[in-house]
Amino acid sequence: MKNIGISERIDLPVDRIPTRWYNVIPDLPRLPEEYVDSSTGKPVTREFMDRLLTPAMAAQERSTERWISIPEPVRDAYQLWRPTPLIRALALERELDTPAQIYFKYEGTSPSGSHKLNSALAQAYYAKRDGHTRLVTDTGAGQWGSALALACKLMGLDLLVYMIRASYHQKPYRRHLIETYGAEVRPSPSTTTDFGQRLLAADPDHPGSEATAVSEAIESVYADPGSRLAVGAFSNHCLLHHTVIGLELREQLAIIGRTPDYLVASVGCGSNLGGFANPFLEDKLNGADITILAAEPEACATLTHGEYRLDFADAQGKAPAAYTYTLGHDFVPPPIHAGGLRYHGCAPLVGLLRHEGLLDARAFPQTEVFAAAKTFAQLHGYLPAPESAHAIRAVIDIANDCKRTGRDATIVFNYSGHGLLDLGAYGRFNAGLLQDVETEDFSTPVQA
Ligand SMILES: *Cc1c(COP(=O)(O)O)cnc(C)c1O
Repeated sequence: MKNIGISERIDLPVDRIPTRWYNVIPDLPRLPEEYVDSSTGKPVTREFMDRLLTPAMAAQERSTERWISIPEPVRDAYQLWRPTPLIRALALERELDTPAQIYFKYEGTSPSGSHKLNSALAQAYYAKRDGHTRLVTDTGAGQWGSALALACKLMGLDLLVYMIRASYHQKPYRRHLIETYGAEVRPSPSTTTDFGQRLLAADPDHPGSEATAVSEAIESVYADPGSRLAVGAFSNHCLLHHTVIGLELREQLAIIGRTPDYLVASVGCGSNLGGFANPFLEDKLNGADITILAAEPEACATLTHGEYRLDFADAQGKAPAAYTYTLGHDFVPPPIHAGGLRYHGCAPLVGLLRHEGLLDARAFPQTEVFAAAKTFAQLHGYLPAPESAHAIRAVIDIANDCKRTGRDATIVFNYSGHGLLDLGAYGRFNAGLLQDVETEDFSTPVQA
């Protein structure tokens, strides 16, 4: 193998930004189960969804059209950073002495730092177009909140963000970013909703969770007719918007004449994995030997330890219930540093892929994940978000397997975001302060 460089970039010109999103639903082996309204126990009604989400998002959620046009203002905004580069990690290949080729799709070039802006721009655009005045959302580590704050500012909408209380206080940088983009941020549990007040009355130090923040966001949506919920990762429409990642990747791989053997992404809820890998699902269903691998934290191992069943998306049971893998909606994940992966469930589309045997999953402890991230940073300079580092950790195993078997596989992973606002976590890792926790250690749910 004659690779002497550090990396090789495969870029697309700006006019190759996709013009359509790819909707995987018509190509799935079966349709996803319908969402269930927890107050009636029946499938959600159109009115229910239109009041909770913007009607445009409610419609995309159910759409069975394979291709959906990207509105021109959204595509224009994508030019802020898209198309994102595909980069061959020559230095990592050399370090691992693997015959495999390792590539990563670098979503960290987005102004807010992660893939999340792909869907944030779309959701803000439709909300504005349809006359809503405010979006309300939840955020964990703050990647979604900062992406949506920028999107709402660009599209001219107000935004209220409920941020998990522990992150709000302990990792304030993304909160500062959200506020700088002009949105309002409240810690969850907050004193401004009934649900938040109840949680704080029971436990003044309640750390909050993604699920408590969604519950409060929903309560705020119902309290104001001009407000709608924006969903950061769970929904079908969110995965749809992120397919610009996989669609660009297809073109980039075609340029170098490779097809993927492994597609690897971290999974918190599954939006970056879905957007990255779903555009290859049809090839897989048609017999292409593609392994799609989800890398998740051992501390919140939804796909490897969870059950496939009907569960709520929020802590209070006000959000629709969905069939997916879940650790239980009252599971409060331990405070690991990959905050974006601390969610009790996962996107129903990703759960379906897993349940149908189309998605592999592996869980990793955070010290191994940070060690992989550090190796990568030293080889390539890019400092990955702790979430993305899960994918890097998984890729190292695959590349080592390829070394054993002599396989010249093409491994592509999604580098979902940069870690420059996660330096506190790197500092703790470098000081030897990070500890590993497993999902079983937390199997007794912390009651809300
Ligand atoms: C939010 C986030 C994730 C996890 O969310 P998914 O819905 O699983 O994609 C992964 N990486 C980064 C950088 C994130 O911000």
